[in-house]
Amino acid sequence: TRSEPMLKNITADHLLDGLLTTDFSYLSCRSRYEFAMHHKSSPHKPSPYLIAKLRKQEALQQRCGPGTAAHEEAVRRLDSGESFVDDDGGGCRYLVYISYRGLGNRMLGITSAFLYAVLTDRVLLVDGGKDADALFCEPFPATTWLLPRRAGWLSRWFSRSPLARIQGYEGGSTVTLGNMLQSGAVTVSADGNVSWSAAPPYLYLHLAGGYGFHDKLFFCGAQQRLLGGVPWLFMWTDNYLVPGLFLTPPFRGELQALFPEKDAVFYHLGRYLFHPTNPVWNAITTYYHSSRLAGAGHRVGVQIRVFHKKQPPQAVLDQLVSCVRDAKLLPVPETMNASSSVAVLVTALSSWYHERIRGEYGGRVAVHQPSHEGRQRWRDAAHDMRALSEMYLLSMCDVLVTSGFSTFGYIAQGLAGRRPWVMPRAPIWAADWREGMEPGEPPCRRAVSIEPCFHTPSAYDCAAGRDVELDKVAPYISRCVDVKYGIKLV
Ligand code: GDP
Repeated sequence: TRSEPMLKNITADHLLDGLLTTDFSYLSCRSRYEFAMHHKSSPHKPSPYLIAKLRKQEALQQRCGPGTAAHEEAVRRLDSGESFVDDDGGGCRYLVYISYRGLGNRMLGITSAFLYAVLTDRVLLVDGGKDADALFCEPFPATTWLLPRRAGWLSRWFSRSPLARIQGYEGGSTVTLGNMLQSGAVTVSADGNVSWSAAPPYLYLHLAGGYGFHDKLFFCGAQQRLLGGVPWLFMWTDNYLVPGLFLTPPFRGELQALFPEKDAVFYHLGRYLFHPTNPVWNAITTYYHSSRLAGAGHRVGVQIRVFHKKQPPQAVLDQLVSCVRDAKLLPVPETMNASSSVAVLVTALSSWYHERIRGEYGGRVAVHQPSHEGRQRWRDAAHDMRALSEMYLLSMCDVLVTSGFSTFGYIAQGLAGRRPWVMPRAPIWAADWREGMEPGEPPCRRAVSIEPCFHTPSAYDCAAGRDVELDKVAPYISRCVDVKYGIKLV
């Protein structure tokens, strides 16, 4: 049922204005080159400096990636507990992203890790969980970004290698930045400078929600200088850390140069890093054409994410219907004529919403829901492939309504480059979406930018030594409409 022609000439459009290299063959990963024709072209252009930096990172990944002598030497040193701060280990330092939580969280974590790697001249390796290679094509040519997996699950328990223990890591290490800072592994000089008593060969960075004061010092200049001397860093996060990196003094200038438009960081990096594999892309494009989403004049994407099993579904539906009505997201019957074709794409774990939404609008618009998985599953490649497909299908819509707090929705809006209408999350007990909300709170609000929200930023100003109001420190940082303590780039 594919109706688009095979790609003959690769143009600047297909390469997303220079974000992508031409070093991959078209057939190895069709989504790389076909993304552009399924998405409206956008006013956001990557800066020449960002493009140059990406090419430089690709060269670094090739020089130091798995299979190279430099990588073998760095792994050998890690396994034997040697740290090195000089360049004789091939000069390669690594950042390993540890797979953690649902797919949306993982994609935000990987994006954060990638940007941090770029800023600190590290090689990014992804412990993507079992199915990362089933979901995504390699982003860097002639190398792999996947952390080589050690043979057998037993190695996780018995191997002395820190890399083997990463598989299935659930946060239980003492070798974290936070612990090291508290345990006297660093010395503080009279003028306040910190240095390692003995630099460790590796360190975990705990940057997941609920992290402590000392782990949050990651966002300070002095601690960043310490981290520079550690050859292997293992990052454990479920968050979009990028706004926090913009608030970290040593990165500020570089980030402003890389991203003159600060509200398009995920838009560029997400389209650079994530390319669904051919089987996933086939599922996406086949559904897009066979459901006739492709032919619709206007596509409205609705992402429903209910975090609590006991949340009354009727309350969620009422909120959505009120949002669609108040924000005028669908044409009213009187203004519709026979030739207007409107399609609604619904993504939700439950099929309940699809049927009710069809009941609500069915006569006027076509309502599609690609899957209803029932519940979130873990380590299930087919389930994750469907989730990824739906993120991309949502990103092809003209208008988005998303559920607050959900990273799944952030990915869709970020790839689309569209500011969604965000439905705030009602308290679990609420039988009506208005319960527990501020009086007059609308059913949905327009997001202030296309960027994902960083849910748990550090409010600590390292130079001042106290907490600050994060939305007052820079004109390009604002609060999120859905998460009270969250911040985002605008
Ligand atoms: P978040 O929990 O909403 O922030 O998003 P995540 O993507 O991190 O985790 C939710 C996971 O639940 C997804 O990755 C999917 O595995 C599953 N899931 C949630 N909503 C949907 C949906 O609408 N469609 C599909 N196919 N899966 C979903």
